[in-house]
Amino acid sequence: MELWFTEKQTPALGITCKVLQTLHREKTPFQEIAVLDTEQYGRMLVLNGMVQLTIGDEFIYHEMLAHVPLHSHPAPRHVLIVGGGDGGTAREVLRHPQVEKVTLVEIDRRVVDVSRHFLPEVSCSFDDQRMEVLFEDGVTYLLGRQAEYDIILVDAPEPIGQAARLFSREFYEGVLRALRPDGIFAAQTESPFVNSDLIARVYREVRGIFPMARLYLAPVPTYPSGLWSFTIGSKHYDPELPLRESGLEGSLRYYNAGVHKAAFQLPNFVRKLLDGE
Ligand code: SAM
Repeated sequence: MELWFTEKQTPALGITCKVLQTLHREKTPFQEIAVLDTEQYGRMLVLNGMVQLTIGDEFIYHEMLAHVPLHSHPAPRHVLIVGGGDGGTAREVLRHPQVEKVTLVEIDRRVVDVSRHFLPEVSCSFDDQRMEVLFEDGVTYLLGRQAEYDIILVDAPEPIGQAARLFSREFYEGVLRALRPDGIFAAQTESPFVNSDLIARVYREVRGIFPMARLYLAPVPTYPSGLWSFTIGSKHYDPELPLRESGLEGSLRYYNAGVHKAAFQLPNFVRKLLDGE
């Protein structure tokens, strides 16, 4: 008998994959975690029935969330990741030799444990000496910080439950305070097809708080609609221009300087969304 998994992405849309094996399922105090082995994309991490990553396409999301802001900063030494308990974003950040310390604040310890066990190619970052992992609410942690980070990355799930505050104005104001005077922040901000209101609101708020705000796009096949957005707020450097040659391009699968610049070229329907038309 064939087994298929469907994520109901909206009341009218879903993604369905053939499942070879259910490797893990548990309920934590925060969410339900599952790891599936899918035929098309390999292992898949699912939280509350929603796809967080697959081995087949995670490189696009993680490279784009990490390398766009990191290549726009001349000396990214201290990086904060909020969420991101699978370790994929940290893996990309740690490729930069200038990075001295990565602090990852994840609310659910079990996401890290399960990822370490079932997704070693993603969670390999946790073995790096430069990693500090804290298990607590990312908003509470961040609101107590002042001018500490060069880069802040928000690798949050869908904006519901405990993750909703990671998309709030209060949180973005905290991000501004927690960044050093030339810091950069980037967050995943969902799909322009499915979450246009959220994107428009977040962009408006970030633009009102940061000296510079930009949106960039990348394809992520297993996320709703396949087209994904990231919102960036910068205090000093223009995030559209990769500032430095990192020498990493040979080891990356998606990101390069051309992709960096192209990702900021927005189609008209997304531009309109940001202009509030
Ligand atoms: N790349 C993914 C996506 O867009 O679907 C997000 C992946 S990562 C697994 C998201 C993590 O954020 C989860 O492990 C979840 O436990 C964590 N998280 C949710 N709310 C949080 C909060 N308030 N503070 C810190 N971590 C949080």
